Order: sequence, then C-alpha cells, then structure tokens
Amino acid sequence: MIDLRSDTVTKPTEEMRKAMYLAEVGDDVYGEDPTVEKLEETAANVLGKEAALFVTSGTQGNQIAVLTHCRPSQEIILEAESHIFYYESGAVAALAGVQTRTIPSIRGAMDPRKVHEAIRGIDIHYPETGLICIENTHNRAGGAVVPVENMKEIYQVAKKHQVPVHMDGARLFNAAVAADVDVKEFAQYSDTVQFCLSKGLGAPIGSIIAGGKDFIQRAKVWRKRLGGGLRQVGVIAAPGLIALTNMKDRLAEDHENARLLADGIRNIDGLAVVNEVETNIVVVDVKELGVTADEFVVALKAEGVLSGSAGLSTVRLVTNLNVSANDIKLAIDAISRAINKK
Ligand SMILES: *Cc1c(COP(=O)(O)O)cnc(C)c1O
Repeated sequence: MIDLRSDTVTKPTEEMRKAMYLAEVGDDVYGEDPTVEKLEETAANVLGKEAALFVTSGTQGNQIAVLTHCRPSQEIILEAESHIFYYESGAVAALAGVQTRTIPSIRGAMDPRKVHEAIRGIDIHYPETGLICIENTHNRAGGAVVPVENMKEIYQVAKKHQVPVHMDGARLFNAAVAADVDVKEFAQYSDTVQFCLSKGLGAPIGSIIAGGKDFIQRAKVWRKRLGGGLRQVGVIAAPGLIALTNMKDRLAEDHENARLLADGIRNIDGLAVVNEVETNIVVVDVKELGVTADEFVVALKAEGVLSGSAGLSTVRLVTNLNVSANDIKLAIDAISRAINKK
C-alpha cells in the first residue's frame, strides 16, 4: 500500500526509535524531564520566541492558545476553512466559550482590510475581538503558503488594535521550505505559534506552542487543566527533537514528489488538479469521471493507494516521509488503472 492519506501516517525512523530507547527522562509535571526541556528550548530558538511548550497534538496546541489568549464571550477572527474552525470538533465553543468570525481568503491568505473590518469596536452590543488566527500552510487550501507579507499586514492591523495573533503553523516548516525563508520570518508576525512535530517532520507524537514567557507560563496551566501534563515525556520528546533538528530539509523531497504526482495526474483524462501545488498536498477533482470522492477513494484503494476525500468530488493526496519518488510513479500507474477499470 502507498499511503497518501496524510503526512501524519508516517512511522518513526530507526534513529527516532533509538532516541526513544535512550532518552533521559524525569517527571515533567515536576519540571524534571531534561529531554522535553531541550526540545522546548530548541523549538523556541528555531522560531525566535522566548519560550515553548510541548503539547500532545496540534489541536491541543491551538486550543490551549485560544484558551490562554481569550475569555468566554469574546470573538476570534479566523479563515473560513481553517483547521481551528473546520476540524477541531467545535472546541473553541465547547472549551474557550468564544464565538467565531470567519473571513474568506484567497489560498489561505485573508485580505488584511477584511480582517480590519471584522475587528470589533467598543459597543454594548458587541463581543470583544480576542484573537486573530492565521493558518500556514493552509490545509484546506491545498497546502498553500500564506506569504510573509500578508502575515505582516495582518499583524500590523492586529497590533494597531491590540489584538493578539496566533499562527496555526501545523505545517509551518513546509511553508518555510517552499518559500525559501527561515521560519522566524513567518513567526515574527504572530504572537504565538503552534507547529506539529508529527506531520511532515515525521515524529510519532506531539506539537509545540511557542510565544512570550508569560504566555507559555499561562499556557502550561491550561495544558494541565486539559490533562496534558505528562510525566516521563522524554520518550516522545526525543523523536520530536530529531524531527525538529534533522528532518526540516527533507520536506523539499515531499514537495518535489507532490509536483511529480500532480504532473502525472494532469496527464490522466477525467482528473483535474485543483490546487496550485506549493507544498506536499495535491487536491484532485474527480467530478468528470462521474463518481463521488468516496467512490474514487475505494477504487484507488483496490489498486494499492490510500487517499482521502476532501469534499463531495475532491480527493486529497499527501506526500510524506514514507513515500519515495518511485512510489509516486507506482501511484500514478495505480490511479490510471483505477480509472480504466470503470
Ligand atoms: C493537522 C492540523 C492540525 C491538528 O493537528 P493534530 O496533531 O492532528 O491535532 C491543526 N491545524 C492544521 C492546519 C493541521 O493541518
């Protein structure tokens, strides 16, 4: 099976397994795990932030950020198809008690003027604007990179109104590699950042949130409340540290593989690549074949390729650490076979 469902499906490398075995550990709720401390310090340095915190998942990291920045009754501004809005089980309502104000975008980049207009003034009828969220790369926009310049403009609007900015950078390192800039360039235009160790970077578990010292101190309390205070966490922080230090540059391979895959799919009648493939995600429209996305996913599985539906007639394919350029060739052949069998 060639698994292109997500970049979350990767298995830890040999080096990661060894690091897990050898990790020096302690009780992190007592602040005694040296491995997670090293990971958090490294992550803060890489992002250019004062401090960082290891959390169990991207979702937990985003939710801790919203909980730490906001009070119940506030409103958060976020992109209309963002992960926090679309894929976190309504957690911002259930946990933080905030309401959402969604802004449409062009390939993940919200118009700074629309963000500006959405910031609430002072009025007894209005909720307060508590936070602006930016997603980079943007998942449902097909792994699109939100340009540094766009982030800068939104950040300037936010600062003028004293509203904090959080970046859901689950795939921030993909953005940095694709745009050929340092992650700090993006991170400087958000007060807080979440990124996943467990996606393209290949770690088995975990995310990082980063920001100012005071923010991270308060975030730690929310992590504890949510049951995210872990004990000998070094066993999972150790592969995270390898992901963060050794795996960033290889993301270019995933991007190249995604381009190869998109080129192959463009040559197949009845299929259309609908996203501009900038990183590791390819979104394919199957409407012309007269099948639904779910039917196409089943047909593809029978030919040895796993994919995921991203809409009624769109299928998502994500390149990752466990998929080679040769696998991509095989996947393109399998896609042709699946279609010819119809
Ligand atoms: C995957 C993802 C998340 C959530 O990460 P999990 O570790 O799966 O909870 C958040 N935001 C974006 C943009 C993502 O792609």
